[in-house]
Amino acid sequence: MVHRKSPREIENMRKAGRVVSKILDELGDIVRPGVSTLELDQHAERRCRDFGVIPAFKGYNGFPGSLCVSVNEEVVHGIPSRRTLKEGDIVGLDFGVIYDGWYGDAARTFAVGKVADEVSQLLRVTQEGLLRGIAQCRPGNRLFDIGHAVQNYIEGFGYSVVREFVGHGIGRALHEDPQVPNYGPKGKGIPLKEGMVLAIEPMVNAGKADVRVLSDGWTAVTADRSLSAHFEHTVAITADGPEVLTLSE
Ligand code: MG
Repeated sequence: MVHRKSPREIENMRKAGRVVSKILDELGDIVRPGVSTLELDQHAERRCRDFGVIPAFKGYNGFPGSLCVSVNEEVVHGIPSRRTLKEGDIVGLDFGVIYDGWYGDAARTFAVGKVADEVSQLLRVTQEGLLRGIAQCRPGNRLFDIGHAVQNYIEGFGYSVVREFVGHGIGRALHEDPQVPNYGPKGKGIPLKEGMVLAIEPMVNAGKADVRVLSDGWTAVTADRSLSAHFEHTVAITADGPEVLTLSE
């Protein structure tokens, strides 16, 4: 069942989203060669305490961190550890908080130091793919218009869109209906309506779309070990179109 949110409820989600984007901004400043993925996680958790919010992922289905940290061929759900980032890596940071019972969820992939041109292109194209999907979030469109716009853009560069993980409705729960695939046929799926709030999150592989989950039970990697990028925003559908609740200032 899809829960639509009132303007007052969206105001609370806006507050959750602002904290998420602020902390992701800070993490982006900390990302550099030599930093461990656990240090990033600890910063995120500390800042949740400062803002009086709850880290949404900590303990979610038993996830051990506050932050998902996915390096290079890791697609999503990487567990923070003593692993240190190296020059030329890319690192995906997926982060969510609960503010007064309302969730915000966003992800960005950062370059660590200098990366090759084709690597920065993968990041740029994934982010642009997300924006293309967001642009479809208006009343009158249908759910798969979002994924269609993402897929169409991404595949134009020869990249592939991950199928096993999808975006989702979000509100008083981290994952609500509907599921929001990053692929699909234009003009299909449920009608998009004012008050729906969706987390849209394309995961884009430089190689093939297939993924595997490592023996830690969490970390998803590309089956062909190609690089993977991930960007996500929490987006409210308003009468006038999309409002991104997790925009960076
Ligand atoms: Mg999400």
